[in-house]
Amino acid sequence: MVPFGASRATAAGLLPATPMLPPMIVTVVAASDVPPSLVSLMLAETDAIWRRAGFTFIWQRVPLDAWPLDTPPSRPASLRVIIGRNQRTAADGTLPLGWIVFDDVATPEQEVYVSYASAVRLFESATGVVGPINAMPRLQRETLMARAMGRVLAHEIGHYLLASKVHAVGGLMKAVQTATELFSPDRTHFLVQPSQMTTVAARVASLQPLVPEVTPRFRGGV
Ligand SMILES: [Zn+2]
Repeated sequence: MVPFGASRATAAGLLPATPMLPPMIVTVVAASDVPPSLVSLMLAETDAIWRRAGFTFIWQRVPLDAWPLDTPPSRPASLRVIIGRNQRTAADGTLPLGWIVFDDVATPEQEVYVSYASAVRLFESATGVVGPINAMPRLQRETLMARAMGRVLAHEIGHYLLASKVHAVGGLMKAVQTATELFSPDRTHFLVQPSQMTTVAARVASLQPLVPEVTPRFRGGV
């Protein structure tokens, strides 16, 4: 059987590091003041980082107002992403752009938070990297913000897929990404290592619901 993601990767001419894994369904809930066009660019950045490693997502977007936040995601392999105005300060005084809560050391909750408010603060403090922002066209501003937020989301999804809080010395799972790395058009600081994909593949397999084998029935076209 050919998993769903395989044909898409082949069509895009990409060579995944591991056999293609089934796509993960991710519900994306954005606050109303986060531009939908920025969210689209952000998800495209997250997609690009993980697709290169052989992993794909199906994004299902829902407005924050319409989403009952106390309802846990129903499927074990699914995840939800909240993009909103909440901010946190880490123990070392830094301002994280995103986070995922762990119930214990190896059990992440099925929710990633990406802080639009913290991303705006980073952007406004990074004029040395992104240039003057006052007269910056909206598309350029959204492209830069979305790039950083998409990379942060890819990192937090990495914690979920690896079921680990541990950071690596380099690549996507490095603990602290600089503003230069987050805003640069160069994506090479955000690579997923093949050894990490081995872990992801095992975890994704463990999360799949046991579905009884169904014999396909074929029919001609209409
Ligand atoms: Zn992290």
